[in-house]
Amino acid sequence: MAPVLILLGPPGAGKGTQARMLEEDFGLIQLSTGDLLRAAVSAGTPAGLAAKAVMAAGALVSDEIVLAILKDRMAQPDVAKGIILDGFPRTSGQAAALDKLLAESGQKITAAISLEVDDAAMVGRVSGRHTCGSCGEGYHDTFKRPHTAGVCDKCGGLEFKRRADDNAETVRDRLTAYHAQTAPLIAYYEAKGVLERIDAMGPIAEIRHSLGQIIAGIAA
Ligand code: AMP
Repeated sequence: MAPVLILLGPPGAGKGTQARMLEEDFGLIQLSTGDLLRAAVSAGTPAGLAAKAVMAAGALVSDEIVLAILKDRMAQPDVAKGIILDGFPRTSGQAAALDKLLAESGQKITAAISLEVDDAAMVGRVSGRHTCGSCGEGYHDTFKRPHTAGVCDKCGGLEFKRRADDNAETVRDRLTAYHAQTAPLIAYYEAKGVLERIDAMGPIAEIRHSLGQIIAGIAA
């Protein structure tokens, strides 16, 4: 059965960075509801129009909108390779809906991996981040600047993007939403016996290695 992995953790924990690396390392497909919602906002779809202000305020978009967007994505054939859910589920309603969706296709959660971090460091981690507008490579004002200022190391792109919600004030609201609505899912997956925890305060390469070991252990 193709793996179904969930990455849990507050904004700034490194879910997106690690999910992209797991795509490379294991040929899995990253499903980020944040990316899907941002694409809907840019495309101006009804779901995007409804989600835009909620996202800008750092609150959670309704389960109804998020589930519709996720189900559409999960209907595409590439997910048969196995998926890494990044930023989903974020509420107990979404977790229950995911269980049901997987059961309908004879699948179940392989592992929910909690990236454990200090909240205090997250505002700084998120506030400085930006990506190359051409290839999507991630950078940070303090922790990862391009080797030549203003030029993407990976593709030479000259345009960089910052997310509207990656400012200190909104990050604090996103952390509050995480603790109120998402952190209880850690106990939910622990009770199901699928929870793994890793220390995600160290270097990106170390966390990648720890995740790789967990996934290799599951596959073995
Ligand atoms: P992310 O890219 O995961 O940090 O998500 C950015 C924003 O999109 C969040 O602050 C929420 O407003 C919204 N969002 C992403 N995923 C979800 C989800 N599973 N449930 C509700 N809102 C979400």
